[in-house]
Amino acid sequence: MALLPIAKLGNPVLRQIAAPVEPSDIAGRAFQQLIDDMFETMHDAEGIGLAAPQVSSSQQLLVMACEGEHGFPETVLINPTILYYGPHQVENWEGCLSVDDLRGKVIRPSMVRVQALDRHGARLDMEATGLFAVCIQHEMDHLIGKVFLDRMTDLATLTQLEEFERFWQKQHAEVI
Ligand code: ZN
Repeated sequence: MALLPIAKLGNPVLRQIAAPVEPSDIAGRAFQQLIDDMFETMHDAEGIGLAAPQVSSSQQLLVMACEGEHGFPETVLINPTILYYGPHQVENWEGCLSVDDLRGKVIRPSMVRVQALDRHGARLDMEATGLFAVCIQHEMDHLIGKVFLDRMTDLATLTQLEEFERFWQKQHAEVI
């Protein structure tokens, strides 16, 4: 296990289109190690999701986990595609391990149906709502070179962390 350096906003890798993973590579030691290292890096940085491009590996791999009442289990998505977006939109505060100390409100569909491969190469077909749905969409954006700032429709909510904690966090406990 090892902590990986996190690419920060301005690093060109965050703006690249990530390549699909070759399914025959998934079982390999190097790929499995990358998954473990991404989880360790995500937990160390106190994030709930991490996309491979954020650790300078431009391939379609996401790891996610969030404890607590509104949380979701440890999840690995490889080559994910969204098959369906729910009809309702929700607004959530988002932050990003590649964008230090900023929070902003993003409106996204409240439900998604996703197909992907899991860390064993098995096909996954799942629906997600709430924070999990937000996290999946946020992380999948990293695979097409987007960050949450690109998804903000109103930059007026862009908030530095210190002021977020002072003015906004109490009303909005869930932050990705
Ligand atoms: Zn992010």
